[in-house]
Amino acid sequence: MNFDYDLFVIGGGSGGVRAARVAASETGAKVGLAEDDRYGGTCVIRGCVPKKLMVFASEYGEMASEARSYGWDIGDGDFNWTTFRGKLNAELDRLEGVYRKLLANAGVTTYDARAIIKDAHTITLSSGEDITAKHILVATGGRPVRPERENADLGIVSDDIFHLDELPKSILIIGGGYIACEFACIMHGLGVEVTQYYRGAQVLRGFDEEGRGLVAESMRERGIDLHTGTDIIEMGPAGPGGKAGDPVRVKATNGSERVFDTVLFATGRAPNSDNMGLEEVGITLGRKGQIEVDEYSQTAVPSIYAIGDVTDRVNLTPVAIREGMAFVETVFRGNPTPVDHELIASAIFTQPEFGTVGLSEEAAAEQEPIEVYCTSFRPMQTAFADKPDRVMMKLVVSKASRRVLGCHIVAPNAGEMIQLAGIAVKMGATKEDFDRTVAVHPTMSEEIVTMKTPIRTA
Ligand code: FAD
Repeated sequence: MNFDYDLFVIGGGSGGVRAARVAASETGAKVGLAEDDRYGGTCVIRGCVPKKLMVFASEYGEMASEARSYGWDIGDGDFNWTTFRGKLNAELDRLEGVYRKLLANAGVTTYDARAIIKDAHTITLSSGEDITAKHILVATGGRPVRPERENADLGIVSDDIFHLDELPKSILIIGGGYIACEFACIMHGLGVEVTQYYRGAQVLRGFDEEGRGLVAESMRERGIDLHTGTDIIEMGPAGPGGKAGDPVRVKATNGSERVFDTVLFATGRAPNSDNMGLEEVGITLGRKGQIEVDEYSQTAVPSIYAIGDVTDRVNLTPVAIREGMAFVETVFRGNPTPVDHELIASAIFTQPEFGTVGLSEEAAAEQEPIEVYCTSFRPMQTAFADKPDRVMMKLVVSKASRRVLGCHIVAPNAGEMIQLAGIAVKMGATKEDFDRTVAVHPTMSEEIVTMKTPIRTA
């Protein structure tokens, strides 16, 4: 049978763009791609990139006071949201243009349309056009979800934060995951009064407990009013407004009742798999709506594959990209390549940052006997400026194999450090390999190779 395309990709985000581009430019496949919003997807338009630029913006606030401690004669200034947002939008426009160009240069035909699946080889676009393809790749990502409660539509979600007309004076952030904690630090750094409610006992569930504790402590020390074990009981409009982003009166389980200029729900994300005809053609969806795939990202329909957040495996940009590359290798180069989801380093861009690779102390202790090497101290740069900030370096080591099972760093620029530590851990480095490595002095990260005695065994 003759198809319009060898490959049709649904979704022009991190995974979809990479798979389309590589399949077209490196294997000569005829490729089409549909995107119903902006090219670049979550990461570029409403995730990693704008968030990191906001992290940078938020960090300048403290620099003036630190610089004064080092002898600089600098006054505090004000942050201008409108100026920043203008530059941010221009940068996102530029990046979207880059993504469009990458696809065009690779020879991918793009459709600015929503796509749904009609049958194992047919896609229907929102324009009404039907397109056939030998292979279909679903890379539709995910979206933020509001909790199901009365007046939840008064709150905003992470997508909205980049478009605020002005910065609120006060914000209530609901949630304890990495997105909630990152935005709490960002907003605080930009001068917003931040309150955060999380119903669990500690933020950043799933990460190393000592690291979570230090991040939470640092957030509180900086002035974020973080309440764990706390949730909303009731919320309603505080004035005549009544649309998302307007002031909200909130009653909480901790007994407080107050008005916040803005409420941000960072309470989870859902895969974009609704109303796409997926189950109708035989694709299996999981409990959260994620597309079920095998290790090669193949769905229950052999001609249809899925990658990235819509499969809800490890929801990170570099993972979506890896899955896209492995898909091309498997399907267009005849080299079946499963994606390795083990020992993925990642970072949470709180202040301080939290970089992590491998098992938390708690997960490792459940698996086998371990030794824990950990140090927490005030780093030279901020201690000199009389700041209370502490950092943490931690290695979780297998007693039997001596391999480093987990490395956890809470420190400024921990994201940069963990990328490099991740190579050693991925290579299977032992504690003794770390010990053999001569320290770089004076740095914070030298502690990672100079910890001599375990502080605990388990
Ligand atoms: P996406 O990038 O979401 O792309 C999917 C695309 O498909 C979208 O453009 C969407 O419009 C389009 N689409 C959906 N349905 C259809 C349809 N039916 N037809 C046509 N097009 C459709 N990851 C990190 O690694 N580091 C970070 O620091 C980080 N920070 C983040 C911060 C925030 C606030 C958020 C929300 C996410 C963050 N992530 C981060 C996660 C990262 O953005 C995602 O893991 C990544 O974008 C997933 O890529 P994807 O290709 O699966 O989907």
